[in-house]
Amino acid sequence: MWKYNGPIFDAHTHIGNPKNLEEMIMFEDEFGITAQLAIVHTKEVFLDARNKYPDRFVFAKYLFLNDIAHFETDKIVDDIYRTKDEGYVLTKMWFGPRWRDYYENAPKDFRIDDTRLEPVFQALEDNSLPLLIHVGDPDTYYKLHYADTDKYGTKEDHLAQLKNVIERYDRLLFQLPHFASQPEIHRLSNLSTWLNQYSNVIIDTASSRWMARELSKDVKDAREFLMRHSDRILFGTDLSTDRTDRDYFQGRYHAQRVLWETRAQHTPLPFEDADTRDSGGTFINGLDLPLSVLRKLYWDNAVRIYRT
Ligand SMILES: [Zn+2]
Repeated sequence: MWKYNGPIFDAHTHIGNPKNLEEMIMFEDEFGITAQLAIVHTKEVFLDARNKYPDRFVFAKYLFLNDIAHFETDKIVDDIYRTKDEGYVLTKMWFGPRWRDYYENAPKDFRIDDTRLEPVFQALEDNSLPLLIHVGDPDTYYKLHYADTDKYGTKEDHLAQLKNVIERYDRLLFQLPHFASQPEIHRLSNLSTWLNQYSNVIIDTASSRWMARELSKDVKDAREFLMRHSDRILFGTDLSTDRTDRDYFQGRYHAQRVLWETRAQHTPLPFEDADTRDSGGTFINGLDLPLSVLRKLYWDNAVRIYRT
């Protein structure tokens, strides 16, 4: 049914509730996912998953935002120095703008490019620990949820902060999820510049909904981007063990496979997109990528970067 029939490496998944791990893997197997990058928040979950499936995962340790937001750098640096020995391959930080809702007592002027965080990024670089760092969110979220810019900041500024960090730590590998929060067609040229300028950056395709919604808007531009940067883009979904229904998994895989592999036109996203519910819905226009590019996207890039 699909153009690509090889194995798939999902470079962006979450293991929350470990009880549902078997179900997640069962659904993944149905769709050809045979290896994955898993973000874990606790040691217990990490050990449990590794014991049950010793060869399947590349683990990313979540670095606690509360410590980062309060510049508790000694604590984080300490943690980073243990990370490799514990068996993790990389680390994860999350800065969706709504983090401000969860940590209201964090300094109002907090920035990820604040010099006080230098020890953290330096420790990652010194330990050769790649960093998966989520900064920003879809343009739609800024419009729908973050209109209070005094509280949340602006997308342009969030991206500028991220750029400063990437520039400063050029020996640190950054996996920027969600196309570095820039899959919107009007942002692709900026993202292209980043990829050309910073060889320490790779991006993933997590959030099937976000990718499908935005890249479908201009198939020609989107396809050119994928072709040009095909060595630096990793397939990812953001799927999590916190949900266990087949539809949830199926919908996300299906959406991306239609997007990357087919010439489908105006195919409805197989699940609801809350961001477009009131504005006509989300539709997929396929990019029809060549097999050589699909192979890199689904497997080769992730294996080259994380499995050597
Ligand atoms: Zn994620």
